Amino acid sequence: MEDELTAGTPAPDLLALHESIADLFATQGDWRRAYHHLRSALDIARAGSLRDPLTSSYNRRYLDQRLLGLPLSGGLAVALVDLDRFKSVNDTYGHLLGDRVLCRVADLLQEGLPPEAFCARYGGEEFALVLPGVEQPRALRIAEAARARIARHSWSELQPGLQVTISVGLAHGTGSGPRQLHRADDLLYAAKHAGRNKVAYRDRESAQVITHSE
Ligand code: GH3
Ligand code: MG
Ligand code: MG
Repeated sequence: MEDELTAGTPAPDLLALHESIADLFATQGDWRRAYHHLRSALDIARAGSLRDPLTSSYNRRYLDQRLLGLPLSGGLAVALVDLDRFKSVNDTYGHLLGDRVLCRVADLLQEGLPPEAFCARYGGEEFALVLPGVEQPRALRIAEAARARIARHSWSELQPGLQVTISVGLAHGTGSGPRQLHRADDLLYAAKHAGRNKVAYRDRESAQVITHSE
């Protein structure tokens, strides 16, 4: 089984192999084969540039590109996820364990996402769940399920005494992707303010901010 700590590293060997083969064909004047291998090397490098090396999730570059490209019609839900009191996980158990927690959280967030949705590491201990075309009630169920899955995970198997929770700001609407992300950030603040381990969203009828946990 692949080690969580190395799971996110790109495949430099394959990239280097394609480059070397391309060089070899080029010295023989076989430009068609050289081009083919350079294309393969480029595809590997491009795919790697869109992934976070630690967690293997999509990264901020991918997130920004996708958010700008999403159609404005059809509705879009964006959930911004932040680990609760994560600094104290690092301080108590060390950064290596903190890294393993981030990898596990990324996997748990990925579970239960519909095929059209994706998870990206926004930065640090923050992740974005992007749910194109998903209506608010379903987006809320997905965000709430992610929160509960992480809160109930058997973290003590990773480290005795460890408990991990997340706070989530969930925005939904027909505005642009970057706008929904900005709204989700405001709602995340509300979830933190309400005590953490909560999903905060804006009620469609009353426009009130609701914070939801168990
Ligand atoms: P809050 O509930 O308010 O979000 O508290 P917090 O402690 O999670 O927030 P704070 O912003 O104070 O700390 C975030 C921590 O996340 C600090 C930083 O060292 C840690 N962190 C960010 N990226 C990584 C990473 O890649 N690996 C590890 N181990 N820690 C990281
Ligand atoms: Mg944070
Ligand atoms: Mg945090």
